[in-house]
Amino acid sequence: MGSRRNFLEKLTVSAIGIPLLYNSTSLFAATESAYEGPMLRVAIMGLGSYGTRVAEAMQSCKRAKLVGVISGTPSKVEAWQAKYGVPKKNCYNYENFDKIKDNPDIDAVYVITPNGLHCEQSIRVAKAGKHVICEKPMAINAEEGQKMVDACKAANVKLLIGYRMHFEPKTVEVIRMRKAGEFGKPKFFQGLSGFVIGDPSQWRLNKKLSGGGAMMDIGIYSINGARYMLGEEPIWVTAQETKTDPVKFKEGIDETIQFQMGFPSGAVASCLSTYAMNNLDRFFMTAEDGYVEMWPSTGYGPIEGSTHKGKLTQPHITHQTLQMDGMAQLIFENVQPIVPVDGEEGVKDMKIVDAIFKAAKTGDKIAL
Ligand code: NDP
Repeated sequence: MGSRRNFLEKLTVSAIGIPLLYNSTSLFAATESAYEGPMLRVAIMGLGSYGTRVAEAMQSCKRAKLVGVISGTPSKVEAWQAKYGVPKKNCYNYENFDKIKDNPDIDAVYVITPNGLHCEQSIRVAKAGKHVICEKPMAINAEEGQKMVDACKAANVKLLIGYRMHFEPKTVEVIRMRKAGEFGKPKFFQGLSGFVIGDPSQWRLNKKLSGGGAMMDIGIYSINGARYMLGEEPIWVTAQETKTDPVKFKEGIDETIQFQMGFPSGAVASCLSTYAMNNLDRFFMTAEDGYVEMWPSTGYGPIEGSTHKGKLTQPHITHQTLQMDGMAQLIFENVQPIVPVDGEEGVKDMKIVDAIFKAAKTGDKIAL
């Protein structure tokens, strides 16, 4: 309790000067005692590994609740009905989920299927009049991402991307410090994102379903991280690809890409995205008056890090719990996270992914 109060106090003080950008209550929605406001009623589409993690985390949410499922696997539906008390009338499959438009008990659908399915499925959800929450990467290229943004606008529903780090307390603190000028002018970011991928038959190594390899899955964290750590949008990229196993990593599935990004201020980023090396989950940013190092930087946590002022001590709270409570607040109260999680934010990342693939293929410096 003491530490929670201390942190709340810190956050209140630190929020001075950026009142519009961050409302501390969204961080602590999970620990508030009595919440009587509206509840975001969510159906999860795709009951796989990450969908399962989100469902577990949502059990601790105060503002969001799992009420429905969309799945191609009847046995999973049955198990989720039993475990989460999902009523039969809120269960759908990929053929009939357009009927969700006639279901007044579901507000939003969280799309947690393979990347290559996100665009079509999200647009169908939007057309059914429900808010769309979609996992990263939002799609397999910027063109698809833009179609999703346009469809959600046309349907007058929100499109939110599962950028859980935008709600993570240590990450939020670093962004707050950067916005408050506590690092001085950012100069350089290094992002290392990767792990050794297993089973060669999984959808992540199937171009049609994944849209690419490590970059789509994990490299995107370094892209997004560079943007929120430096606080700028890149104006060029260069990239180099290496492939040691062309059988496992077929044409269009990147194994390892090193890429660089240049920013209007002159700041640069140098990043590594890989499916071939472990222990890569590290961000480093140096600036005129300070630095920050985070390792691990984007895993499920606890995130660890320090700055020139000392260790980051904000508490670990399950990321997906914070994210879903934060998204409920965004939808109902228009409380914005410190950096956006909307479809436009997703398209910005996808444009950079497109440019990195082009740069890796051509060897050119690609202007954004
Ligand atoms: P999984 O393979 O574990 O689950 C995907 C689920 O999608 C399947 O279980 C299946 O559920 C459904 N699905 C529908 N069509 C297909 C198909 N053709 N092939 C395979 N599955 C299908 O993947 P993850 O849960 O790990 O990843 C899903 C999404 O979540 C990806 O976009 C990924 O990038 C993202 N993700 C995000 C993370 C984060 O930290 N933000 C972490 C991990 C993943 P069903 O049987 O119910 O139909």
